[in-house]
Amino acid sequence: MKAIRVHKFGGPEVLQLDDVPDPKPGPGQVVVRVRAAGVNPVDTYVRSGNYPMLPALPYVPGNDCAGVIETVGEAVTRVKKGNRVYVVRTTTPLCGGYAELAVCDASMVHPLPATVSFSQGAAVSVPYGTAYRGLHHKAHARPGETVLVHGASGGVGIAAVQLAVAHGMIVIGTAGTERGRKLVAEHGAHHVLDHTAPDYLQKIMELTGTRGADVILEMLANVNLQKDLDVVARFGRIVVIGNRGTIEINPRGTMGRDAAIIGLALWNASPEDMASIHAAIGAGLAGGTLRPVVGQELPLKEAARAHEAVLKPGAYGKIVLIP
Ligand code: NAP
Repeated sequence: MKAIRVHKFGGPEVLQLDDVPDPKPGPGQVVVRVRAAGVNPVDTYVRSGNYPMLPALPYVPGNDCAGVIETVGEAVTRVKKGNRVYVVRTTTPLCGGYAELAVCDASMVHPLPATVSFSQGAAVSVPYGTAYRGLHHKAHARPGETVLVHGASGGVGIAAVQLAVAHGMIVIGTAGTERGRKLVAEHGAHHVLDHTAPDYLQKIMELTGTRGADVILEMLANVNLQKDLDVVARFGRIVVIGNRGTIEINPRGTMGRDAAIIGLALWNASPEDMASIHAAIGAGLAGGTLRPVVGQELPLKEAARAHEAVLKPGAYGKIVLIP
């Protein structure tokens, strides 16, 4: 089969299209015929070698993919050949989704409803898992509360907007481009702001009657954490999802409002938490409240271009690779 492999850590150019032997499922495993693979920012951090957990070289990148069960290993009963599935990373380091075939534990595959395309399925695992974990397990968001999705136009942000709207929250989403803001509004955000505009924090305070946001899902904490402390409500929860550097903050901002800053790494979710997250996401996909957005499809061999694109401003849902 064809697969993208990384033989040494480095820039996007190290993503190489190789011919490799077809994987065979071991006991309890399945092989998925990949129809689309999601490209997450974390894939670029791992590829560059600048990440706390690195796979042994050479490796096939990709946490997220969707496709059809090709073969099942011994003792697998929950899925069978031909089932449409999306793949969820659990404690296994990578599913190796940038390939024509991916081998994974049977517990990592979840049903993909016929109404959801394979490309949309490749946009589910990390983005929706992270958004759900942030909103529900970390912020304990309640219906009627206001959530600021600070960076709503990308993979995690759009998922968070849909989940929060479905949960009965008042949603303020931000994006840096007109196109991104239109997308955020189309997916149900009640208010959409431009995080590059000089007055958008003031607008958040106006929209919330000077209370601020009860929950903030933060996609770029090194730029925004102090701003978040300025617009968080009393007893508010700021969940740090994305961060690409350091920032100086005044901790006093947490004190007057009893506000909490909470870190999140999806890989820390226990298998039980992951099972509950994907039971909820599966219901949302089947019922149509969750509609993953695919902004760009690229052929598998253009993985390097996808890695460049995913780090550029002007996010619009997900970028996926098609084998
Ligand atoms: P993405 O699709 O590339 O989206 C990035 C988002 O950040 C876009 O909405 C972008 O908006 C926004 N953004 C850019 N500049 C911003 C600013 N100054 N203020 C607020 N938002 C800004 O990435 P993603 O998949 O959604 O992931 C978002 C971040 O979370 C990444 O850093 C990723 O590594 C991280 N992440 C962490 C976990 C975890 O376990 N903690 C899991 C998944 C993702 P515009 O492009 O419209 O400006």
